[in-house]
Amino acid sequence: MANFFNDNEHLKFHLTHPFMQKIVSLKEDNFSERELYDHAPLDYEDAIDSYEKVLEIIGEISGEVIHPNAEEVDKTGPELVNNEVKYAPGTRENHDVLVKAGLVGLSLPRKYDGLNFPIVPYVMSAEIVSRADGGFANIWGLQDCAETIHEFASDEIKEQYLPCFNKGATAAMILTEPDAGSDLQSVQLKATYDQVSGKWYLNGVKRFITNGDADISLVLARTEEGTTDARGLSLFIYDRTAKAVKIRRIENKLGIKGSPTCEIVFNNAPSTLIGDTRMGLIKYVMSLMNSARLGVGAQSVGIAEAAYREALKYAGEREQFGKPIIKYPAVYEMLTMMQVKIHAARSLLYETSRFVDIYKAYNYLAETRKLTNEERNEQKYYSRNADILTPMIKLFASEYCNQITYDAIQIHGGTGYMKDFPVERLYRDARITTIYEGTSQLQVVAAIKGVGNGAYLKLMQEYASRPIHPELEYIKNILLKMTDQYEKAVNRVNEFDDNELFDFHARRLVEMAGNIIMGYLLLLDAERNRKYTSPAEIFIRKARSENVANISFINNFSANDLSGYKNQSYIE
Ligand SMILES: Cc1cc2nc3c(=O)[nH]c(=O)nc-3n(C[C@H](O)[C@H](O)[C@H](O)COP(=O)(O)OP(=O)(O)OC[C@H]3O[C@@H](n4cnc5c(N)ncnc54)[C@H](O)[C@@H]3O)c2cc1C
Repeated sequence: MANFFNDNEHLKFHLTHPFMQKIVSLKEDNFSERELYDHAPLDYEDAIDSYEKVLEIIGEISGEVIHPNAEEVDKTGPELVNNEVKYAPGTRENHDVLVKAGLVGLSLPRKYDGLNFPIVPYVMSAEIVSRADGGFANIWGLQDCAETIHEFASDEIKEQYLPCFNKGATAAMILTEPDAGSDLQSVQLKATYDQVSGKWYLNGVKRFITNGDADISLVLARTEEGTTDARGLSLFIYDRTAKAVKIRRIENKLGIKGSPTCEIVFNNAPSTLIGDTRMGLIKYVMSLMNSARLGVGAQSVGIAEAAYREALKYAGEREQFGKPIIKYPAVYEMLTMMQVKIHAARSLLYETSRFVDIYKAYNYLAETRKLTNEERNEQKYYSRNADILTPMIKLFASEYCNQITYDAIQIHGGTGYMKDFPVERLYRDARITTIYEGTSQLQVVAAIKGVGNGAYLKLMQEYASRPIHPELEYIKNILLKMTDQYEKAVNRVNEFDDNELFDFHARRLVEMAGNIIMGYLLLLDAERNRKYTSPAEIFIRKARSENVANISFINNFSANDLSGYKNQSYIE
C-alpha cells in the first residue's frame, strides 16, 4: 500500500529534531490536558508517537486516495452550477475521506475538536498531501484560516466557527481584487456598519479567490471611508449560509486545475468583524499570509518530491545508446541536484516551522500567565527569526519546485511533454507557487529587511557557533568564508547609499543569504546523521559558485550601470 509518510525517511528525521522536545512541551503546556482528553499525550514520546500515527494516516490517504484521483481531477476540474462551485468527484472524495478521518482543523485546540498539532507536523501533512496533488492541497490547506480565527477572534466567534472545521467546513482567504494584487493596501471592497441591525455589510468585487464558494471566508475590506492605505482595512468572516455572494466565474488556469479560483461579487453580504477595525491587513492578514507562505513552501516541496520520484523512476527504466539514461552524467547530475535542492528546501521549511511553533506557543501561553524574562526574550528571538525565514522559504522552495519540475520533464524527454506521464501536470501545478501568497519579487521585498538589519547575518553566526564534529569542520569552514563574503557584498551595496541600487541588488543578496543559511542547516542535519553529509557538500558547492557569481556581479557594478537597465522605451 502506498504511504507517502512511511516511504519518506526524511520526514521522520525532521519530525524528531531535538527542538521538538521544547515545542511539544510548550504546545502541551506540560501535558496539562492528559486528564481532560483521552487522546491528549502523556509525555514527549507519546506526543511524537501520536503525530506519527496521524501522519501515517494522512500518508496512506495521500498515497491510496488523493494521488490516484489527481489525474482525473486535473482533467475534470470544478464547475459552476447555479451560483455554486461543485468540486470534481475526485476532490469531493479526497475531502470526505480526510473529514471522516478527523483530519481537518489539525492545529486547533482539543476544545474546538482539533488535535492541537504543532506547526511542524501540520506543515509536514501539507507536504505529504501536496506530493499527492498540489491542487487539492490548496483546498485542504485553507484550514489555515481556522488558525487566524483562533488567534484573533473573540471567544464567541471561535465557539461558533472553529468546531465546524473538524466537521468538514471549507475555507477561503479573500484578499485580492482587480486593482489590489501584490499591493493589498489598495483593497477597496467596502465594509459598512449598519447601526440598526448592528451588523457589517460587504460590497464589491474580489478576484482569483481559491475556494471562493467556501463555507467560511476571511475577507479583507475597507471600513474607514476616505482612507487609501492599510490603516483603513479590517478583516471579516463571511458565512456562506448568508447567500449574498455571486460567483461570477471559475478561472480557466494553467495548473492546479482541481482548485477552484473564483471571481466573486459581494452584494450587501452580512459579515462579522474579527478583532479590531484597522488591524485587518497590518496584523491579522500578515499572520494569515505568513502561515499560507509556509503552506506554499510545503506545497512546493511536496510537488518537487513527486516530480523527483517520477524522474528517478523514468531515468532508471529508459534506455538509450544501450544503457539506462541514469548512467549518463548529464542525467544523474540533474537528478542529484533535484534531490539536494529538496533536502535544502525541506530543512529550511521545518526550521521555519519550528521557529513559528515556539513563538506562537509563547503567544498563547502569555494569554494564560505572565511570561518570565527569559521566555519573553525567547518569544522575541523566535518571532524575529520566523519573520525573516518565512519569505525565504516561500522564495526558495517555490523557485526550486519550478526548476525541479522543469528538469523532471527534461529527463523524460519528449514523453515528458505528453499528458501520458504525471510530470506534465506537476510542471503546470508548480508554476503558481512563485506567484500566489506574494510573488517571488515580493518575497525578496520582505526578505531584504533581514539583509539590511543584519538579522540573517546574526542567524548565520548563531549556526556557526554550534559545535560540529571535527570530520565536518571542512564544510563549516567553507560556510564561514561564504558568510564573510556575504557580509562584504552587503557592505559594498550599502556603500552606494542609494535605495534604488539596493533594491536592484536585493534578489542577489537574499539569494546569497538563503544559500548560506540552507548550507548551515544541511551541515547541522549532517551533524545529526552523517547520511546528510553528501547532500550538504553538494548543495554548498552549488551555493558557493552561485554566491561567487553574485559577488562578481555586484563588485563589477557601478551606480551608473543602473541606467542601462532602465533604458526601456516605456521607463521615464
Ligand atoms: C491560481 C491563483 C489562486 C489564487 N488564490 C488566491 C486566494 O485564495 N486569495 C487571494 O486573496 N488571492 C489569491 N490569488 C491572488 C494572488 O495572491 C495574486 O495573483 C498575487 O499576489 C499577485 O498579484 P497580481 O496577480 O495582481 O500581480 P501584480 O501585483 O500585478 O504583479 C505583477 C508583476 O509585478 C511584480 N511586482 C509588483 N509589485 C512589485 C514590487 N513592489 N516590487 C517588485 N515587483 C513587483 C510582481 O512580482 C509580478 O511579477 C490567487 C492567484 C492565482 C493565480
